[in-house]
Amino acid sequence: MSDANQDSQQAAPKKKNKHDFSENNLPLNINLSWCKACNICIALCPQQIFEPDRDGRPIQTRPADCTQCTICWVHCPDFCITSTVK
Ligand code: SF4
Ligand code: SF4
Repeated sequence: MSDANQDSQQAAPKKKNKHDFSENNLPLNINLSWCKACNICIALCPQQIFEPDRDGRPIQTRPADCTQCTICWVHCPDFCITSTVK
């Protein structure tokens, strides 16, 4: 069997989700001027996307893992969070 055939039979690497988020392609827009650092989004995110900054406001430190599950923007009491793709 040739190398070309072997390559074509290998499964493509599985992506974690259909999006391709990164530090340069963030999953969320967060209006930090409205944020009161309540910690709700940080605590509820099942993928642990956020770390708090020195004032307790969310920073997207693991953007590649965001699945756009909606939990953070649905629960933010100050409507700070919107998706960059929805
Ligand atoms: S959409 Fe879901 S996975 Fe993405 S940051 Fe918000 S809570 Fe986390
Ligand atoms: S839920 Fe909203 S107000 Fe609370 S920390 Fe997150 S972005 Fe800020």
